Amino acid sequence: MKSHVLGIDFGSTTAKVVILDEDGNTVASCVSQKGAVSDEGVRAALRGAFEQAGIDLSAVVRVVSTGYGRRMLDIADRTITEITCHARGARALVPEARLVIDIGGQDSKVIALDRSGLVARFAMNDRCAAGTGKFLEVLARAVNVELEDMGAEALKAEDTVAITSMCATFAETEVISLLAEGRPKQVILAGVHQSIASRTVGLVGRVGKHDPIVMTGGVAQNIAAVHFLEKALETRLIIPTGAQIAGALGAALFALDDLRSASKVKRDDDDAVEAKLEQLLADPQRCTPACGKKETPVTFKG
Ligand code: ADP
Repeated sequence: MKSHVLGIDFGSTTAKVVILDEDGNTVASCVSQKGAVSDEGVRAALRGAFEQAGIDLSAVVRVVSTGYGRRMLDIADRTITEITCHARGARALVPEARLVIDIGGQDSKVIALDRSGLVARFAMNDRCAAGTGKFLEVLARAVNVELEDMGAEALKAEDTVAITSMCATFAETEVISLLAEGRPKQVILAGVHQSIASRTVGLVGRVGKHDPIVMTGGVAQNIAAVHFLEKALETRLIIPTGAQIAGALGAALFALDDLRSASKVKRDDDDAVEAKLEQLLADPQRCTPACGKKETPVTFKG
């Protein structure tokens, strides 16, 4: 029987699991949404992936976890930051990618890759919901549209309205006022997506725009988020199949490296970079009145 490796992305909103066999083939991937950083979410994603692959944990020889809750998983042999895993997964999905825009449930990140696909520079917004999937979730609820439908609804609008509040809580109040003024839902939703796009363009500006750009994370499934971002960046974005599982795929590929015990792309200072990333991500980022403050991009290699 073949050996298998597992990559688990324990995200803030969803849990993602990817299983690779020892030859590097993806034999299963599963996304589960069971509430914020939920154990049950991870268990459901694991169950789904094992069922697809037709194996159980006994066939798994190496587990790498990533994501917001990565340290909560005792089955993981190693944890790796989501920056490193998203970069690796995105590059596996789109080998020519030079910039990764990942918009997840609680944060958004822009990662510039060097020619060999390693993280060169990144900027991240995890201070507040603005520019993240959470912002979309809150405002979908405010206009009473399903999350899955909000993109299509927004694209029906012939016009947009500016949503000026950056904070999700204030934006919700603003949206309610616009509804009370009789503005159509579609127009408001177009404004909501435009707001996400302009926030993301700010992050891209800090890292530098490098084509081709790949978009990962759950928000890549939202056609209006993609549309308005493409418009704001004046560039086509590549949305790979499996955009939401990019981090888990990256984790699984690192697990495969461990299994083969030689990373083809490892550079001398990889461990130092990872240690610095861990330190940066451990720094508590809170929603504060300074949420409009610009984060300085972190550079590893030009
Ligand atoms: P995390 O890794 O932080 O848990 P994800 O990358 O899974 O987050 O992204 C979650 C976000 O993706 C949600 O907040 C939501 O905005 C968006 N999303 C998830 N599924 C869909 C969908 N079917 N259609 C549109 N947006 C979606």
